[in-house]
Amino acid sequence: MATVQPFLENYAEVVGSSVIDQLRQLATSLQGKKVVHINSTKEGGGVAEILTKLVPLQQELGIDSRWEIITGEQKFYQCTKGFHNAMQGEPVNIPEPLLRVYEKTNEQNAEELRPMLEEADVVFIHDPQPACLLNLCPNRKGKWIWRCHIDVSHPYRPVWKYLREIVSPYDASIFSLQAFAQPLPHTQYLIPPSIDPLSEKNMFLDQKEVRSVYEKFQIDMERPVIIQVSRFDRFKDPVGVIQAYRMAKKFNPLQLVLAGGGASDDPEGEAVLEEVRAAADNDPDIHILMLPPDAHRTINALQRGADIVIQKSLKEGFGLTVTEGLWKGKPVIGGDTGGIRLQVMNHHTGFLVSTPEGAALRIRYLLQHRNRLTQMGKKATKFVRRNFLITRLLREHLTLMVGLLHGAEDRIELV
Ligand code: UDP
Repeated sequence: MATVQPFLENYAEVVGSSVIDQLRQLATSLQGKKVVHINSTKEGGGVAEILTKLVPLQQELGIDSRWEIITGEQKFYQCTKGFHNAMQGEPVNIPEPLLRVYEKTNEQNAEELRPMLEEADVVFIHDPQPACLLNLCPNRKGKWIWRCHIDVSHPYRPVWKYLREIVSPYDASIFSLQAFAQPLPHTQYLIPPSIDPLSEKNMFLDQKEVRSVYEKFQIDMERPVIIQVSRFDRFKDPVGVIQAYRMAKKFNPLQLVLAGGGASDDPEGEAVLEEVRAAADNDPDIHILMLPPDAHRTINALQRGADIVIQKSLKEGFGLTVTEGLWKGKPVIGGDTGGIRLQVMNHHTGFLVSTPEGAALRIRYLLQHRNRLTQMGKKATKFVRRNFLITRLLREHLTLMVGLLHGAEDRIELV
């Protein structure tokens, strides 16, 4: 196991030292356990964002945790993006040859990963991309958990029927909220994701640094700014955000930042970006920023400098960008869907909206009621501190592993 930099202690200043003590206690019975997380990209998107932090923290707690990815050709990602869209309710028919590419790619990846996976005590398979690996590891000794990060509340049935066959044999699955749970023949756990308050994306930045980022992108801090940070994906509705901005701008001076980048497992980004550029129509107050995958500090500064954070998704598994905005004391105007509903407490931490008109109305309201904006922002930070920090996610993962590994015992000693 690699040597790890200790940093768990640093979280005590955010969440209190008793939380850290409890994590250490929970981890005692997991010392040396081999845990593997598998997904399909090291950067871009929420899953990579979470694993980058969760895995080192598990290592620091004495767990032999590692993170591997599966890779494939363009057709593989075309198929898995089809799964993603279908799971979020789009009627996508995936041709048989693409399904064969999906299965074949899993087989190829299994060749390399099999020894590690069959040896592991616990395996977390994230989303559908690597889901076939379970069936390809017949001598597995550990518990396998399918972790679904997607809004699967109303999946397109023919595709879900195919995927359900693949995920049914898992020992358990995890969904982000109750509305996503599906009839499956194993235990389902509800665990919402979280953010890392000490990461470059979320740590405190001083105003000087925020200003310098705004200057670099020539965004005027003297006029109101709204921001949506997202992959260029139709479910994130960037064009709807532009429509809302246009309506709100009739009443307030306003600038819009749409900051995004690609994820290596998302083949649709380019096409959506083109649609967004066309909708923006060279408006000098719309800043479309294509950022590299490691632009965490830049995104942090952009979110901190904005007046309001938007996440006008039409479907959303959880929406880490919502959590990031709330944590930075911004009210969030979010699509009334999926995991956004867990985070945006209507009229308290932000507003839930269903249309560009609704979003425009709320933008206008907040910009004209600055006190309310500040109050909501304060509530938002508190709400995230209590519910959506990585220490909570870590605790739930540890509890789940302890439960799965000792489940049949009458008593589980934690010390
Ligand atoms: N993100 C980023 N760069 C980008 C776009 C997004 O770093 O260009 C980050 C964003 O800050 C958030 C995560 O990727 O931490 C996106 O997670 P979310 O749950 O909002 O959406 P997903 O992409 O997983 O659907």
